[in-house]
Amino acid sequence: ELYNQIQETKGNIRVFCRCRPLNQEETSTRCATTVDFDGAKDGELGVITGNNSKKGFKFDRVYTPKDGQVDVFADASPMVVSVLDGYNVCIFAYGQTGTGKTFTMEGTPQNRGVNYRTVQQLFEIAKERRDTISYNISVSVLEVYNEQIRDLLATSPASKKLEIKQSSDGSHHVPGLVEAKVENITEVWKVLQAGSNARAVGSNNVNEHSSRSHCMLSIMVKAKNLMNGDCTKSKLWLVDLAGSERLAKTDVQGERLKEAQNINKSLSALGDVIYALATKSSHIPYRNSKLTHLLQDSLGGDSKTLMFVQISPSEHDVSETLSSLNFATRVR
Ligand code: ADP
Ligand code: MG
Repeated sequence: ELYNQIQETKGNIRVFCRCRPLNQEETSTRCATTVDFDGAKDGELGVITGNNSKKGFKFDRVYTPKDGQVDVFADASPMVVSVLDGYNVCIFAYGQTGTGKTFTMEGTPQNRGVNYRTVQQLFEIAKERRDTISYNISVSVLEVYNEQIRDLLATSPASKKLEIKQSSDGSHHVPGLVEAKVENITEVWKVLQAGSNARAVGSNNVNEHSSRSHCMLSIMVKAKNLMNGDCTKSKLWLVDLAGSERLAKTDVQGERLKEAQNINKSLSALGDVIYALATKSSHIPYRNSKLTHLLQDSLGGDSKTLMFVQISPSEHDVSETLSSLNFATRVR
């Protein structure tokens, strides 16, 4: 309902900004904070850009380092719930590596993030409605790395390249991708663990690899109205994007260069799509990257989009912080 209230006055895109706390190293070296949260309650944020000048930003929500997973999910949940009412939804986390994208989406076992809380809530509501609606929920977990789709639930390596196809009803899907049918949160948790383990396979540095690939969880919901037999299909994407930072020129060679180019390509394609939607452009360039092509059904039309822009409070990260905030401002 909260969502629908905001909805009346604005489009389908929400931007929530979340700043992580200073980490141990930053605290012990007395690193200065460049972010000002005085206006956080009103969605305002200031960034001190040096010599006493400050740049202001405005978002739908601003979370300070003190806000927890529960606060964040409270605001995201109306949107998540609308997938049970037949809407396609896309939630993604954007930002520099180390700013809390994975913390927001996955969280930790002690402090679960949006993904787990979302699925938990979907099952709860489905249960409440079971006398009138029968829901069928399935999950896919995939990764996009160097413009290639990898199925993280596949038990054997794919013999063919996974590609995106358009069905006769206009929706997009990836033939051959595993869709795990799930009945409860425990099953989902197992599926997510399997996906996460698969992600680690074949990479000698898991953290590095995950910062250079997009991790995508897709939740497909089929609803059958038991009163009139009506059926609807909807899809929720939960995406932990690759790090948005620019690599130092000296690091950018060979394989790294290719990775960096592919990340830039897909993140700018995402920005372009959302910008085109926000400005009601007649052409939405979904096909410019695997990321936007996959998300196509859940970006635009009457689907709902939520972007978390994740930032660091540290003075050392101020240029990346400004670049992320500018990206997020452009789409809002
Ligand atoms: P990213 O996925 O953007 O690279 P991570 O989610 O891995 O960043 O976060 C980096 C570190 O900061 C992790 O140790 C994470 O637990 C911690 N962290 C991030 N955001 C928060 C937060 N809001 N509160 C507490 N710890 C956080
Ligand atoms: Mg991460």
